[in-house]
Amino acid sequence: MKNQIERRGVSDPKVLRAVEKVPRHLFVPPGYMEYSYSDRPLPIGDGQTISQPYIVAYMTEVLEIKKWHRVLEIGTGSGYQTAVLAELSYRVYTVEIIEELQEKAKVVLDGLGYKNIEYVVGDGYEGYEQEAPYDRIILTAAPKEIPEKLLQQLAFGGKIVLPVGASYYQELVLIEKNRLGEIQIIPLMAVSFVPMVKQYQI
Ligand code: SAH
Repeated sequence: MKNQIERRGVSDPKVLRAVEKVPRHLFVPPGYMEYSYSDRPLPIGDGQTISQPYIVAYMTEVLEIKKWHRVLEIGTGSGYQTAVLAELSYRVYTVEIIEELQEKAKVVLDGLGYKNIEYVVGDGYEGYEQEAPYDRIILTAAPKEIPEKLLQQLAFGGKIVLPVGASYYQELVLIEKNRLGEIQIIPLMAVSFVPMVKQYQI
């Protein structure tokens, strides 16, 4: 799988090592195990999907995560992206709106021995104020617009990567907040993520 991802242009050795280390098959439902190392998204229940490995690697790479960074993740899902983030950072705060999905993810992540993950059941539009600001923020569900609270919870010098736009057709964008607090938005590519929902929609 490392080769598939490398061929598509992800080159940061730390990211490639992390992706290689995390056993993706543990995060996919039993019926899909045989596909777990092919580069495609797979269903994880409740209409949600585990992202395609290339996208996980690419989004992780553009964040340029350092060992001392505190990372906020919106959309735990299977927990696969969470594991990759936990490999590279100091601590991951992962927010998921569907409690059962997060419980399942936690069992797998606990089993793999990750101690630097904090689990939050809640609405990602709110971020997680208690531990803000974050050095890095990643969304793996797509809002129609950039959530204001997440911009507020980003540290100076921080970065956010997220898909933003209509349901199932979005642009992946990188947001950078400089030392003065100014925001820059850099479009990266077209993507298709599940939409981010509001609490009342589930
Ligand atoms: N990164 C995950 C992909 C998850 S799919 C993986 O690799 O498996 C997107 C996830 O975002 C789903 O689990 C969905 O339930 C969650 N989600 C959707 N809207 C949300 C919201 N408002 N707050 C938090 N999580 C949300």
